Amino acid sequence: MKNVPELFGSMVFNDKVMRTHLPKSVYEALQKTMTEGTALAPHVASVVANAMKDWAIEKGATHFTHWFQPMTGVNAEKHDSFLTPVDGGGVIMEFSGKELVKGEPDASSFPSGGLRATFEARGYTAWDPTSYAFIKDDTLYIPTAFCSYTGEVLDKKTPLLRSMDAISHQACRVLKLFGKETKRVVTTVGAEQEYFLIDAKDYAKRPDLILTGRTLFGAHAPKGQEMEDHYFGSIRPRVKAFMAELDEELWKLGIYAKTEHNEVAPCQHESAPVFCKANIAVDHNQLTMEIMKNVAQRHGLVCLLHEKPFEGINGSGKHNNWSIGTDSGENLLDPGKTPAENAQFLLFLTAVIKAVDDYQDLLRISVATAGNDHRLGANEAPPAIVSMYVGDELEAVLKSIVTGETCAAADRSRMNIGVTALPTIPKDTSDRNRTSPFAFTGNKFEFRMPGSSLNMACTNIMLNTAVAEELRQFADELEAAADFDAALAELVRREITAHQRIIFNGNGYGEEWPVEAEKRGLLNLKSTPEALPYYTSEKNVALFTRHNVYTPSEMASRQEICLEEYSKSLNIEGLTMVDMLRKQIIPACMSYSGKVAEGVAVKKSIGIDAPAEATLCAEVTAGTAKLMDCAQALETALSGVPAGGSVEVATYYCQAVLPRMEEARAASDAMEVKVGKADWPMPTYSDILYYL
Ligand code: ADP
Ligand code: MG
Repeated sequence: MKNVPELFGSMVFNDKVMRTHLPKSVYEALQKTMTEGTALAPHVASVVANAMKDWAIEKGATHFTHWFQPMTGVNAEKHDSFLTPVDGGGVIMEFSGKELVKGEPDASSFPSGGLRATFEARGYTAWDPTSYAFIKDDTLYIPTAFCSYTGEVLDKKTPLLRSMDAISHQACRVLKLFGKETKRVVTTVGAEQEYFLIDAKDYAKRPDLILTGRTLFGAHAPKGQEMEDHYFGSIRPRVKAFMAELDEELWKLGIYAKTEHNEVAPCQHESAPVFCKANIAVDHNQLTMEIMKNVAQRHGLVCLLHEKPFEGINGSGKHNNWSIGTDSGENLLDPGKTPAENAQFLLFLTAVIKAVDDYQDLLRISVATAGNDHRLGANEAPPAIVSMYVGDELEAVLKSIVTGETCAAADRSRMNIGVTALPTIPKDTSDRNRTSPFAFTGNKFEFRMPGSSLNMACTNIMLNTAVAEELRQFADELEAAADFDAALAELVRREITAHQRIIFNGNGYGEEWPVEAEKRGLLNLKSTPEALPYYTSEKNVALFTRHNVYTPSEMASRQEICLEEYSKSLNIEGLTMVDMLRKQIIPACMSYSGKVAEGVAVKKSIGIDAPAEATLCAEVTAGTAKLMDCAQALETALSGVPAGGSVEVATYYCQAVLPRMEEARAASDAMEVKVGKADWPMPTYSDILYYL
């Protein structure tokens, strides 16, 4: 039995460690920086750095690194040892305040989307003291933000912190109207992370998995997920061992790993932590993904984080559970029990509803990647249309606000904003509407569109800023009102009425929904290239600049990077397919049909007619010809990329390359079921998904 409380956070320079390792005055100065965002004085930084180094060395660390999240979304780090030479040939272990606070990685190899020319590729990383330093692989990790020397933001963390400031500022204004003095409002996030675990031996034989993270070929196995025998099923010993070690590694790093279970698809699992502050939750999720991969390797497994590793069975998402709360722990999305609490809740709820409607495009963009395009709308994940589910009880209340009629579900007593008091809203533990992209689950919202490999910063930047904007508008209006209660009632009624269209409690997977959504005027941005140009629309630029989250050029660069990433992913996938077709699949088909032909000829020579085998040979031969055509067509498409802007190029990949890839796959999968197992050059879905 492990002593979990002792293990938990043992590799983190957390509050407990700070209290014991820092002089009181330094501890207090650091606390002030962490809670109020004040700058850290150099002499304070030096003392903190030295204490951190001593603590890290005690724990066996020899190196330190600034740890940041460049716009690739993948974690970046550059390790330096603490070693400093001294006279006489020896060394001492040193770590200065300057090294703690600021690092200077070469920024030129990270995507900047045209923000700066390579020759002035200087960038620096700055410590984010609100996210604790930690030790991993004998290295002290210092969570940092990443900027260029000209001040442009080059990472995902800085805008997230800015968006948290924005929503905090506006929410505090609103709370003040309810008579509450609040210093800070925090956004909280809990990420449910889905993933696949497969045997490393199978992985090693699949170039598609190795190079692209997903299978580009593969006929469906005779068994899919129709037996519903995997979801919440008993966890197999090998997976259990993986999960146990994963938990231990995560706990050491102070990550609240809590829930684990099998997911719907074979070999699919989920891990969810207890929620925490958004920026920490993002850091923790980034670490979780990395550690999942590493731990899997130690168990002879490979952890697949791609959104759609296998066709025909569910892909993986990452539910972003999101709420806002005060620094004293009040959850602002909790309906509460008294009419006054209800009124405040309704105002925040209205802000979220309006935000999701006004900024549907941004929420869609925040989850737009080549991988996630395979998942959204594939009858397993929410469609690409953003809508909200609020549950029957709450919907009845909202309806009564719009119509002015008493709501049957609600209490009879009237609350001060002129609507009936809210009924008790049960926490939606049963996940009653899994088909909604954005579901209210009792005291938080669950955004279900993000893909499994996403850096969650993107989603939370959009969400925080959009809600901040609505709260700003509400605060402006209500601060100016003579009669607060009357103005509040009017505002809620007006906005709920205006944004009815975004609320949809029906089946989001149904065929009727896109038709209905179109009637409602909701966006249906099916692919990444369709969605991304909305990023820099006038409305969205106005939003982000007003709240100091992005400058217009930072937005343009992000749009550019996302589009390029999409095109690059498809290019790699296309090239991998051509390669696998020519080097593995076509030769396998040729060899198999050759063997069948020989058999037919031999049989014929001794007077046995084998028409069925001859037919099989003819079919595989024809299929081989088709495969050759497909490889050629795909190659031609890949070499015909137009020399245009990033939208044009991404659209080309979507419209001219993707269909060729689908044709090639269909042709290969049709052969896979005909060619003998001994000749098929790679593990099949049955081998991969049902063996572990
Ligand atoms: P499910 O969606 O499977 O029913 P749970 O109810 O277990 O999931 O919760 C999912 C996630 O939501 C967990 O990570 C949990 O910590 C998180 N969560 C709960 N309350 C909040 C909150 N107020 N803010 C953000 N996340 C929250
Ligand atoms: Mg969930």
